[in-house]
Amino acid sequence: MLQIAKLTHRYPGAHIPQLNVPAFSLARGEHAIVIGPSGSGKSTLLHLIAAILTPQNGDIRVADTSIATLAPRAADQWRGRHIGFLPQKLALIPSLNARDNILLAAYASGQASDSARADALLSALGLADKATAKPHQLSQGQKQRVALARAMFNRPQLLLADEPTANLDDASCRSAIALLLAQANELGASLILSTHDARVVEALPQGKLLRLHAAGAAS
Ligand code: ADP
Ligand code: MG
Repeated sequence: MLQIAKLTHRYPGAHIPQLNVPAFSLARGEHAIVIGPSGSGKSTLLHLIAAILTPQNGDIRVADTSIATLAPRAADQWRGRHIGFLPQKLALIPSLNARDNILLAAYASGQASDSARADALLSALGLADKATAKPHQLSQGQKQRVALARAMFNRPQLLLADEPTANLDDASCRSAIALLLAQANELGASLILSTHDARVVEALPQGKLLRLHAAGAAS
């Protein structure tokens, strides 16, 4: 499902690589936790896996596609078909209701709009009565579930969640992870979540750990 080899990433102007992953692999349906302090490159790694950033050095393969070989437009289509991304900043559109925010996933990947699928996901996530609510009418946890439904819409093989438990109390942390895991398992997808939070490791004991270190620190 995922193979990473000798991956480094350096943003323009930086003197040392901000990300360094010698080797990592994940089988289909296996789950992983990317853990490291703030600034260690967790978001950068998830953006590379999602083909939002282009790898400069090293290799990332997702379901037998080498990310570096994708041209930008092809990358957008490929991402839409294979990757579900739950960003740390949820990026819901304020003027669109929950259903239409979910349907952006269809639009972005060039697939037919499917309101029934959006509504089924809303129901599965306990938001059946929120289809026409705008983001400002939702709690933070409800907004995160709308963003999760958007990530799930295209039935991705790989679900990426960037710090999904930041700012959650212990009980909400456990239930957020249980929800992500249940949704990934239902699709037979692999789940990769990033965190700086040791509670996540307890809540997802079957997750393979990928530890990142602060840039410049010995690994
Ligand atoms: P994390 O998600 O673990 O907090 P990031 O991947 O966001 O870490 O950032 C890793 C490092 O790269 C940090 O030093 C950060 O300042 C730097 N960085 C992140 N995004 C950019 C960018 N777009 N341009 C330049 N530097 C960046
Ligand atoms: Mg981050």
